[in-house]
Formats: sequence, C-alpha cells, structure tokens
Amino acid sequence: MKRVGILSLQGDFAAHGVAIERAGAEPVFVKEPEQFGDIDGLIIPGGESTTMLKLLGYEGLMDKLAEFGARKPVFGTCAGAILMAHEVSGPAQESLGFMDIGVERNAYGRQIDSRVAQLDPEPEFQQRTAPGTLEAVFIRAPIIRRLGSQAKVLARYRGDAVLVEQGRHMAATFHPELTSDLRVHELFLEKL
Ligand code: GLN
Repeated sequence: MKRVGILSLQGDFAAHGVAIERAGAEPVFVKEPEQFGDIDGLIIPGGESTTMLKLLGYEGLMDKLAEFGARKPVFGTCAGAILMAHEVSGPAQESLGFMDIGVERNAYGRQIDSRVAQLDPEPEFQQRTAPGTLEAVFIRAPIIRRLGSQAKVLARYRGDAVLVEQGRHMAATFHPELTSDLRVHELFLEKL
C-alpha cells in the first residue's frame, strides 16, 4: 500500500489523513525528520503558512523537506500551496520553491475571505479522474498570481488557477480534504 506522509506540525492534517485512507493509501503523520525515509509522497496541509515555517525551523525539518521534494511528489493545499511556491507576496516570506508559481497570501480580502464554490475543472482533470463539478472550500486562500511555463492548470475559479500540477508536484489553493470528493487526492496518489 502507498504510504503518504502528511506534514503534521499545524493545520488540518487530520482531515487529509481521513481522505488518504478513504482513497486507499496509508497516511503517515510526519513530525520527525526520520519519517521522511518511510513515505512515498507528502501532503503539506492548510493552516497558517507563517506558523508552519516557524515550526519547520524549530524542528529542523526544512532541509529534510527540501531534499524530499527534490525527488518525491509533494502536494500543498492552501497554506501548503504557499510553501510550494517559488515566490510569495502579501507579505513576502520564505518558501520551498518546488513549483514555478508565484502566490499572494490572503488575496481574496477580508470581506469574502472564505467561501464554498462549485468549479468546473479542466477536461484533463475530469478525464484523468472522473467527470463532474468540483466543490472547493476556500479559507483565507491565496491566489496564484504567476504561473511558470511548466505549471499545468487543472481547475480555475473566477479565471484564477486554483489547482495546478508541475511534474510530480501539485498545489491547490482550496481544501480538497474538507469535501467528500476524493478525486484530487486520487490524482495525487497516481503520482506516487
Ligand atoms: N491564510 C493562510 C496563510 O497565509 C492560509 C489559509 C489556509 O491554509 N486555509 O498561510
């Protein structure tokens, strides 16, 4: 069975664990550097990217994570997508740069900072998973402001890319772990 690490320092790692189990893989809640040797891919959950960065520093996990992403698939959701990006604004902060994208934090503003939207994912997403709309939960979400030439868009919301892949990596600005639709997690499992 595929073993999927879920970075479990902060944020909604537990819900990803449930989704991974339902999708037929084994979740491993990663808190220690040694656990990176034992997983086929990693999910960086939503939460607060600044706090997650601090905890990664305290735990000495930043180097391990960088090294892991250089050879294995990593999927970042919301705050996790912010960590995956090459550059971050609103305000600027450190990131892993696994994907050639630029993100702006909390970019939907305060008035409409959280919402549930029905997306019509790209035909390629539907072909590789199953047809149908995709419910997306946004919580103080970032917006992807720059897409590198290697980044492929799998779903958009109001014109902005919200689900993107680049080679073995994936990023979503919404929370696929908070809905019962398993297609996004299943797509990630295909990369492992
Ligand atoms: N606003 C958070 C950040 O900037 C992300 C929110 C989330 O992960 N739901 O890190």
